[in-house]
Amino acid sequence: MYLVAVTGGIGSGKSTVTARLAHQGAEVIDLDEVAREIVQPGEPALEEIAARFGQEVLTDDGTLDRAELARRAFVDDQSRRDLDRITHPRVASRIAERLTLLAGEDHLDPTRLVVVDHPLLIETGQAARFDTVVAVLAGEEVRMRRLVEQRGLDAEDVRARMRQQVDDDARRAAADHVVTNDGDLETLNAEVDRLHTHLAAKARAQRAGR
Ligand code: ADP
Repeated sequence: MYLVAVTGGIGSGKSTVTARLAHQGAEVIDLDEVAREIVQPGEPALEEIAARFGQEVLTDDGTLDRAELARRAFVDDQSRRDLDRITHPRVASRIAERLTLLAGEDHLDPTRLVVVDHPLLIETGQAARFDTVVAVLAGEEVRMRRLVEQRGLDAEDVRARMRQQVDDDARRAAADHVVTNDGDLETLNAEVDRLHTHLAAKARAQRAGR
């Protein structure tokens, strides 16, 4: 397989880009989805979160009350670090398991593109694990507008999350490919289709070079 990371700030369009790559046949692992899986009832991470931040972060049916957790965990750096310490290693090992499974199927299609939607790729120092890194970039104002108007997120919340993430210069420096997503969806899809063609060729070249 040819392992592709797609990273970028919140609202830059990572999910939109990976959905298009999936539409073109890539296998996509979504980090946000994995992060939700590891805090389902019965998972050890959820118990640790409740022990650290209080039973009030659980709803009556035992699921995670994300808003309550955000109120308690995003107040200071130490709390945020504690939450990361509980969740990050579990997300990482769940992704490693998925990749091992996919590697086991490599004989079926050795040039398969496996794409990980990875918002914290650079922050967590994971870039070197991938064959190639794609950064999706869009101006802060554009991202803010999309998240508030299209996804109904709270502007203050978005600002706080943006402040925790690295800036676009750091993303540009770590990336092999930059997708600029300041335009409309049609423009983005056309660019991603070109990127897919390019990545598929790289995957074939890697296979041929073995
Ligand atoms: P991320 O995964 O990086 O947080 P998303 O892909 O979810 O970002 O995009 C954020 C929001 O902006 C979504 O509602 C998405 O549909 C929308 N969006 C993304 N790219 C564009 C674009 N080029 N034009 C209009 N809306 C877009």
